[in-house]
Amino acid sequence: MNSESVNVPESLCPYCAYHFEMATNVTGQGLPHAGAVTLCIRCGEILVFTEHLLVRKPTPMETEQFARSPRIEEVKRAWRTVKNELT
Ligand SMILES: [Zn+2]
Repeated sequence: MNSESVNVPESLCPYCAYHFEMATNVTGQGLPHAGAVTLCIRCGEILVFTEHLLVRKPTPMETEQFARSPRIEEVKRAWRTVKNELT
């Protein structure tokens, strides 16, 4: 992956309460922005940035869109590979 990590305001993963201070935009569209997709490095759930660059759960409509995205599937697969190597 070719993404760059950037500092974002502190927030908590809504799934596992992981404490975020940095983020990588997994869709490769530049810096995090409202509506950009990211992945929790701890639990691997897909998250979406709010306009204040905090993370939130995707809406049901977004979840449906992400399920059809080959890019997001690829990132989730990469996350599982890394996770398996670390544990
Ligand atoms: Zn998490």
